[in-house]
Amino acid sequence: MGLVYLTGAGPGDIELLTVKALRVVKEADVIIYDRLANPDILKEAKDGCAFVYVGKEDSYHTLPQEEINEVIYQNALKHDIVVRLKGGDPLVFGRGGEEGIYLRQRGIRFEFIPGITSAIAVPEYAGIPVTHRGVTVSFRVVTGHESEKSESQIPWENYKTDDTIVFLMGLHRLKYITHKLIEIGKPKDHPVAVISRGTRPDEKTVIGTLEDIYEKAKDLQTPALIVVGEVVKLHTQLSWFEK
Ligand code: SAH
Repeated sequence: MGLVYLTGAGPGDIELLTVKALRVVKEADVIIYDRLANPDILKEAKDGCAFVYVGKEDSYHTLPQEEINEVIYQNALKHDIVVRLKGGDPLVFGRGGEEGIYLRQRGIRFEFIPGITSAIAVPEYAGIPVTHRGVTVSFRVVTGHESEKSESQIPWENYKTDDTIVFLMGLHRLKYITHKLIEIGKPKDHPVAVISRGTRPDEKTVIGTLEDIYEKAKDLQTPALIVVGEVVKLHTQLSWFEK
């Protein structure tokens, strides 16, 4: 029976892979990966390593999570070292916890390998610090993905604070999110950034306000995240990565 590493692959730039993640990738007998993990990482695998694609980006699963869990489990029965490679950090909207529980219930050993989360690193590549002395003392990371039909799970009233808010999986909900934030009383000219394909060579940042960001950002590609807060203004002094 194998050991499963539930591994963070970082946000895109291959050099943001941890030393530990790189080690297990080199040792792996099988790597189970999805669309958010940089495929160049797979080139580091040893000869004979098997690859299993369980493609998913945002919350649009090619395979339902239950099937992904089962794929990991079945591979753990066949191989000694199984690497489940996930974008960013495995436990930040990564469903790594569900995979761990599934394996534990079936007696399979696993370890988590933290990854650099897009929630912090992508704003950083865009020159936006999630906290900044004198500007904000905290930040939140929120899912922007909610089914159009279901009642909002997000306690919008809590977001009146000055926290920086980072929305993951929210590009398709940008209009709704900005509308909600204005509705709870944030000023229409409150700063917002949308960062597409962060830390990759084609990263693109669009800066606007709650009122106009939807129009400005509508052609951006996924994966993308949304940053709301005064820290967005620091972009003019700190941007460094995009040409
Ligand atoms: N576990 C991941 C997040 C998974 S949710 C992490 O820690 O980073 C997937 C969402 O992450 C995407 O919808 C997008 O909002 C964000 N994301 C991941 N990689 C990104 C990137 N390179 N650029 C912008 N957003 C990214």
